[in-house]
Parts: sequence; C-alpha cells; structure tokens
Amino acid sequence: MNRTDMWRRIEAHPKAWDMIVVGGGATGVGVAIDAAARGYDVLLLEQSDFGKGTSSRSTKLAHGGVRYLEQGNIGLVMDALKERGLLLQNAPHLVHDLAFVVPNYDWWEAPFYGLGLKLYQLLAGKYGFGTSRILSREETLQYLPTLKTEGLRGGAVYYDGQFDDARLLIHMVATAFEQGATLLNYAEVTGLTKDAKGFVDGVEARDVETGNEFRAAAKVVVNATGAFTDLVRLKAEPAAESMIVPSQGIHLVFDASFLQGNSAIMVPHTNDGRVLFAIPWHGHTLVGTTDTPVAAVTLEPAATEKEIDFVLATAGQYLTKTPTRKDVLSVFAGVRPLVRAADAASTAALSRDHVIQIDRSGLVTVCGGKWTTYRHMAEDCVDQAAALAQLPDRPCPTHHFAIHGSHGFAKEEDAKELGSLDVYGSDVHEIRKLIATDARLSEPLHTALPYLKAEVIWAARGEMARTVEDVLARRTRALFLNARVAVEMAPAVAELMASELGWDTAHRAKKLDAFLRVASNYVLSS
Ligand SMILES: Cc1cc2nc3c(=O)[nH]c(=O)nc-3n(C[C@H](O)[C@H](O)[C@H](O)COP(=O)(O)OP(=O)(O)OC[C@H]3O[C@@H](n4cnc5c(N)ncnc54)[C@H](O)[C@@H]3O)c2cc1C
Repeated sequence: MNRTDMWRRIEAHPKAWDMIVVGGGATGVGVAIDAAARGYDVLLLEQSDFGKGTSSRSTKLAHGGVRYLEQGNIGLVMDALKERGLLLQNAPHLVHDLAFVVPNYDWWEAPFYGLGLKLYQLLAGKYGFGTSRILSREETLQYLPTLKTEGLRGGAVYYDGQFDDARLLIHMVATAFEQGATLLNYAEVTGLTKDAKGFVDGVEARDVETGNEFRAAAKVVVNATGAFTDLVRLKAEPAAESMIVPSQGIHLVFDASFLQGNSAIMVPHTNDGRVLFAIPWHGHTLVGTTDTPVAAVTLEPAATEKEIDFVLATAGQYLTKTPTRKDVLSVFAGVRPLVRAADAASTAALSRDHVIQIDRSGLVTVCGGKWTTYRHMAEDCVDQAAALAQLPDRPCPTHHFAIHGSHGFAKEEDAKELGSLDVYGSDVHEIRKLIATDARLSEPLHTALPYLKAEVIWAARGEMARTVEDVLARRTRALFLNARVAVEMAPAVAELMASELGWDTAHRAKKLDAFLRVASNYVLSS
C-alpha cells in the first residue's frame, strides 16, 4: 500500500464511487472491507492516520463484555462473544486468548462471579475461549503472583481475547485494499455535496499533506467517524440532533514487574462502580480504564489528573507493588462514541450497542458498538447503505474471511522464534527481505523496546506511514508502551523515514517536532 498509488486511483476514477466511507478507524475500515468484498467500488477517507482516533486507544480486548451481562444485556453479550470468536478465526496471528481473574475478598463474591462467568462461558457456545471456574486462594496467586494477599479469599477465572488494536487495524486496511478498496489517510472530509433533491451525493475533502482540496462523488456516503459523528452529520443537516455522548477512558502503562505471569486482573466494581483491568501487553502492564463524560472531542485527548489518580489508587489496592506516578511509562486517553439514549443520566446507561442511522439527507451513520463487534457493525451498515443506494444485492462475505497477515502465519513455536515480529503475520517475510538486502536494518532502534530499523522502512514503504508518529504510535506501539523511550527513538525513525520518503532536512525537523509535541501528552511528570 502506498499513498501515491492511492491518489492515482482517485484521480483516475471517472465516475461516482458506489460508496465513500468517512473515517479510518475500526468501524470505517470494517465497512470498507465488507463493501469491497461484496464487489462495490469503495473510497475511504481518513483525516489523520488510520487508527489515530479511538481505535488505537482501546483496552485491546476482543470481548463479550462481562459487565453488560450484569446489566442483563444478554443479546449484546452473545453477539459480541460470537464476534470475538470470528475475530480469532479471521485474524489468528493477532488475537489470542487470555485468562482474566476476578479476585475475591468477600465471601459472596466467589459464588456470585463464579456463576456469572460460567454463564459468560456458556453464552459463547461454539465460539468459546476457555473454561471459567472458581479458584482457591493458592490458585489465584498462581495466576496472579503480584496480587495483594491481605483479605484475599480466592478468585474466579474466565477467558477473553486480546489483540493489538492499531496493528489489527493496519492489517484490516491492507485487507480492504486487497479487496479493491481505495483508502487514503491524511484526507479530511470538509463538506458533503448534495444533488438537486437535497440528497448527499459526495464529499468535499482536503489533502492534509498538500492542502489541495478535492471533490468525490458517491452513490452513498457512510459516516464512520466515531466520536466525531455529530460533526460530520452537521455538515449534511445543520439542525441534526446530536446522537453521540463522548465518554473518555484512560490507560496507564507500567513495566512487567507489576503484573508478573500471563494473566490479567479484572475488577468488576471499583469504589465508584467502574470496571478496571490490569493486563499484560507486549511485555508491559496496561491498567485502565475510566469512563468520564467529556464535553468536546479532539484527536489527541488528554488524561485528567483525577483519572490518573483514580487508576493509580485503584491499581494500588490490588497490586503488591504499589504503582506511583514515576512508574508510569505512558499514559493515553481515548473517547468512546456512546450512542445517546433518552434520559440517560450516566455514561454506564448509554447504549454500547451499535446504531445505523439514515438522516433525511441520505447520509448513513454507523456508530456505537465496540472494536470487537466491528465486523457485525459493518455488515449491518453495508446492508442498509447498499439498499439505500440501490446497489446490486450481494450477501455479506466477512463471517469467515481471512484478515491480511493470517495466511500461513507462524503458529505457537514458530511465533516464539519471531519474537516481537510475530504481529506482522505473513508480512514478516517482507521485513526479512529488507534485512537481507541491508543488514543494518536488523539493528534495534532502542535497547528498551524490541523494534527494528527494518520495521520503520516497512511501515513507510508498505503500510502508508507518513509521519514519525504513525511509526512510533501505530505501526509499532512504542509511544503507547514507553513514551520517553519513543522520544529517544524518534530521531532515528525520522532519519530512516527521510531516506525512504525523500524528506529534506527541514521536513524531517518538522516531522520530528510534531512528534515530540504529541509525545509530551503521553509522558507523565512525576
Ligand atoms: C478507553 C477505551 C477502551 C476501549 N476498550 C475496548 C476494548 O478493549 N475492546 C473493544 O471491543 N472495544 C473497546 N473500546 C471501544 C472501541 O475502541 C471503539 O468502539 C472503536 O475503536 C470505535 O471505532 P470507530 O472507528 O468508530 O472510531 P475511531 O477509531 O475514533 O475512528 C473514527 C475516525 O474518523 C476520523 N474522522 C473524523 N472526522 C473525520 C473527517 N471529517 N474526515 C475524515 N476522517 C474523519 C477520525 O480521525 C478517526 O480516525 C474502547 C474504547 C475506549 C474509549
């Protein structure tokens, strides 16, 4: 994939696209895969990098949502559990199962959570991940050696999926491309065009790299802009009522010593009734999340001091090694696009399910849901959009549909040998080819993280990375794992990108500065 070729495809496109998708997160790219795989002619435009929005800032769980079970939302949980199973089948190189332990400190918790989690397991049916069961105190500590023992009675274990969100997204972009879709990052949709009857028939957009404005016509336009949904709807109908209530979640990242072993902690009820996870991820410990309503949405949301204190304090209640501010290697925030429900007083009461809305202007909006259910959201959305645009009726083919990278990928023992390159699946061969032509590309970028110089070249050459941030935040996960280390890696990344993409010195300095500004948002001062 390369941006120049994508541009050529757009310029050479003589007629209206069957479908234009606005937004390059999990939802939009999912729609592009589905529509292209049905044989429709699709253009996707993303204002920043693919995954710059919420889709790179999640807890990285392919899950049914244990919490929604407690709220009695069985249908929602069953659907998500099925999608979790399909995701494992379709992207086995990126999704794996993980044991989650709910620690018990009160006598009633073991039977209560034990029963609930058994139901969770049964609801997955043939898409099950592992057997839930009640654990003794000793067994709990075998799963979680760094769990506080004071007052600990035991626990309950259940299984969910874990994945690398930005990496999966990039492989989904590649999948959509292989199916014939054209996908352009750094292309902001600034307006929607309408026909004589007032129906949306295309977009006005701006190439963020050059500032050039362009128009593209389409039989139907899909708005998949997550937390930005209402802003795009207002472009079609200035009086449109808002349908999104943005709610922010944050994560703190620590080194692996805080959570030794391969299991996660799930706290179903924090002191103020929220859910908290502590999860092993890429050799680090990821702790989050909160659920705080926010007034405005931005591409780079910042964690509040209150949220940081809350996560630190709650993690400290469970971990033997109490985490402090100086232990935080990275902090990141993301905004949930929750769908507004009448009279919803708190974000927990808002719909976590997805919604397809067709406005009077014919703009199709798909929002809500979660990462895990992106495929189902896309299926419903394309069904509706195709019917509206009177596209030829074609069934959804994505239930059993390999995501890029999953063909002939290395399994278990082989994957161990690949180390951190295992997330590339079959693309690992491309990285090896680069190293074979230039042995210096096998050098690591930093001693603290496993990323190689070859990954930077591959990101720029084959994965449409355009900035230092694209490489350090989403093609690799350096910024999310250790922000200070990512800052130290940045000059070498800028130099490699400059040689690959032909940047001059001034452009390289500009890209480096831009990254350093963004990275400061991920560094926590002590
Ligand atoms: C803290 C947190 C943790 C979460 N954890 C999980 C989890 O563990 N598992 C799970 O299943 N779900 C999880 N979710 C939910 C999941 O991450 C989101 O539902 C999902 O990522 C939303 O994807 P999206 O594509 O709708 O939105 P986004 O990823 O935000 O994508 C929307 C895109 O639209 C682009 N855009 C906006 N305006 C324009 C425009 N005018 N022109 C062009 N492009 C535009 C944006 O730049 C953005 O990239 C979590 C959410 C949060 C906030």
